[in-house]
Amino acid sequence: MEVARGRVGAAAGEVVHDLRGFTAVPGLIDLHVHMTYYWDQKPGTKPWDQLGQRPSPTLLVLARDNLQRTLESGVTTVRDLYAADRTGVYLRDLIAAGHIVGPRMFVAGCGLVMQPDGKFCGATGHGAQAVAQAAKEQIDQGADLIKVFGSTGSADDLSGTPTFTFDELKAVVDQAHALGRRVTVHSYGPVAARDAVLAGAESIEHAVDLDDDTLAEMARRGTFYVPTIDHNRYYADHRLEFGYTEANARDLMAFVARNLETTRRAVLAGVRIGMGSDAVFTGFGENTLELEWLIKAGMTPVQALATATTNAAAVLGQERSLGQIAPGYFADVVAVVGDPTVDIAAVTRRVRWVMKGGAVVVDRTGRH
Ligand SMILES: [Zn+2]
Repeated sequence: MEVARGRVGAAAGEVVHDLRGFTAVPGLIDLHVHMTYYWDQKPGTKPWDQLGQRPSPTLLVLARDNLQRTLESGVTTVRDLYAADRTGVYLRDLIAAGHIVGPRMFVAGCGLVMQPDGKFCGATGHGAQAVAQAAKEQIDQGADLIKVFGSTGSADDLSGTPTFTFDELKAVVDQAHALGRRVTVHSYGPVAARDAVLAGAESIEHAVDLDDDTLAEMARRGTFYVPTIDHNRYYADHRLEFGYTEANARDLMAFVARNLETTRRAVLAGVRIGMGSDAVFTGFGENTLELEWLIKAGMTPVQALATATTNAAAVLGQERSLGQIAPGYFADVVAVVGDPTVDIAAVTRRVRWVMKGGAVVVDRTGRH
């Protein structure tokens, strides 16, 4: 980590950003967001009730608030793990073309969901062939990677019952790999996570209570664990907005404790960890608070920072272009107050300036 120093004087055509007094870190990467989950906060409404109620064109405009707050947290790249109706694909492309200011997006399109009626995103019916076809459809429609909802589990339902068979997960992974794409699997419990690892998925999201054999297998294969510990803290803290009871909030925090313990064991087992916030609705801007949990899980600040930089770039297959400040890499730079190698709060609480791809997108350097 180096202190960025403004150079005295500039050649013609050069712009000098004087960041003396700040510390520079690479633009951060959030591996788990839902950029199109928008809530207008109108009295008497609840966030989840507005999901799926707006058409894509509306969401492309409304998502700008989420995008801006994410940039302000120092996140310049995100992996979007579910957006309906190709909205994530459109958003990614509009940002890449410069029409909308926001973090660089890698999108899963519509995650594969096994519905009770046997229908899931992009196709209908169970079986290896059907789910492989669904994965292919997502890729054909512009997905950078495939997300599988491999178990039940959400803020409203903390169960982790597998919803795909091992053979189905394997078929999705094989199809995605044949088309040059990666797979990540949502699992709240240990069973679908284990199956996902054995099926060859590159990463798993959320999962608690992973058994020792699975952790060892992940370390051996290099499978990434994206624990998303903080998002249940967010739901508990915002329980009134979501309409959750105090008992719901206690259950959410009990899940947080299990998630933290599983992460602590994963760190000890040598599993590679990636930072994902699972940010939705009003959670944008809190994207990097996950790093504080990773410190609690036993990481050093430098290790925690790697989960949102070099490790996260590796999850995306972008380790030669993202996650470092170096020649040949995107000019994604975040200026923070303090030294994040000894105090992660410099990154989680004190971002003052953000450059994405050479353009300044956040400047609060006047506010020390
Ligand atoms: Zn999610």
